[in-house]
Amino acid sequence: MENRLFLYNTLTRSVEKFIPNVDGKVSMYTCGPTVYHFAHIGNLRSYLMEDVLEKMLRYMGYDVKRVMNITDVGHLTSDADTGEDKMVKGAKREGKTVAEIAEFYKNAFFADCDKLNIKRPDVIENATACIDEYIEMIAALFEKGFAYKAGGNVYFDTSRLEKYYALTNHKSEELLVGVREDVEEDVNKRNKTDFVLWFTDSKFGAQELRYDSPWGYGYPGWHIECSAISRKHLGEYLDIHCGGVDNIFPHHTNEIAQSEAVSGHKWCNYWFHIHHLNDNGGKMAKSKGDILTVSTLESKGYDPLVYRFFCLQSHYRKPLEFSYSILDNSKAAYEKLKRRIAAIPTEGETDENALLEYREKFILAVASDMNTALGLSLIYEVLKADLSGSTKRSIIDDFDRVLSLDLTKGEEAEETAAEDAELDAFVQRKIQERAEARKTKDFKLADAIRNELLEQGIVLKDSPQGTTWSRQS
Ligand code: AMP
Ligand code: ZN
Repeated sequence: MENRLFLYNTLTRSVEKFIPNVDGKVSMYTCGPTVYHFAHIGNLRSYLMEDVLEKMLRYMGYDVKRVMNITDVGHLTSDADTGEDKMVKGAKREGKTVAEIAEFYKNAFFADCDKLNIKRPDVIENATACIDEYIEMIAALFEKGFAYKAGGNVYFDTSRLEKYYALTNHKSEELLVGVREDVEEDVNKRNKTDFVLWFTDSKFGAQELRYDSPWGYGYPGWHIECSAISRKHLGEYLDIHCGGVDNIFPHHTNEIAQSEAVSGHKWCNYWFHIHHLNDNGGKMAKSKGDILTVSTLESKGYDPLVYRFFCLQSHYRKPLEFSYSILDNSKAAYEKLKRRIAAIPTEGETDENALLEYREKFILAVASDMNTALGLSLIYEVLKADLSGSTKRSIIDDFDRVLSLDLTKGEEAEETAAEDAELDAFVQRKIQERAEARKTKDFKLADAIRNELLEQGIVLKDSPQGTTWSRQS
């Protein structure tokens, strides 16, 4: 099929035409959440933009298989293998087991995704379910001379690679996270950039989830999880790998090191990275404690889809500033847009040619490195166009396969509510007229009103408090 999607590829630092390994098919891997806390709306920006990418690929006719891991073991508070395990930290905070914490926050994550119309990936894999795959991959790394044991842990030897900094070109300013918190030199490492493949109980004896391995009783490093889970479900060649920009280094850099060391060839062709959502304190992060979640937005009266609209208004490769006043602008624009769509008259035939023409326009707009804002602006163009109501609705529904803003949904409910209100006003007027007729002892008129309503399926009930009405059952 014709490839018409253009994406910025972190690997080549340029916008490129997307060409999958197998014509018409796309394999896509997403780093899933570390389930030790609620996802904040920054995390969800990443998942939301990845969702739009996946839906755009499907809209363009690709057969997509998308895999996501759930990190429920092995992710330390610093991405540079130091600090406490995030899951253990979460369990301690709440006085629960790691498994309980993982289950609870995984469900909470998907509940948030549902509210934001983020589709579930085709495969969701818990990191704890793939221990055999990590052991197999680490054994292969040993066999090929890329792994070594020191101080009880197993490390990846980055000096054995021709090029370690595949994604960053070793530009320090691009090493966004690198060493974040709790930096402490690990004297077991042969090279500064080496990273842990398998922790043993020589480190973090308090770790709850531990497993047998040829290198000792312990648990996997965070990076090996994604390499092994992607390989398990998508094979040795991957089309697109996604994540937030903080994942570029060291996480994705290390994933490339492991996957390519095992296979001996290039692994993933396109790296899609979403920039951060920032608040006035900088990057929104779970470790900061007071986090902004979808529930927080709901408790302040925002429909979660207002946040989706807010994200789609800006480009995924730009940092996005969050404030309630900016969100209020999005809320007003979203609600106004939905009202305008609801007001489209239901008339005329659907013009199939116009539908195809607008589909083409939508692809040209959004497929240019996911220009979702341009995609949104096309809706306004459709609203103004000289087209039948049915055609407009069909086009907007078609765009919404990608945007997932429920643009025409809810209309039926709104229409029913409006009709109900109208009916109530009518019946109340009739009740008033009947009451006045009864006051003047015009019982003939009073009965006529009652019968008129009954013919319309409306039953009146008199009581000392007044007259109420209901629909005939
Ligand atoms: P975590 O649960 O911490 O592993 O993060 C889940 C996803 O959210 C990863 O893809 C991160 O890169 C991404 N992420 C973390 N913080 C932000 C942020 N402030 N804005 C956008 N994405 C983020
Ligand atoms: Zn990952």
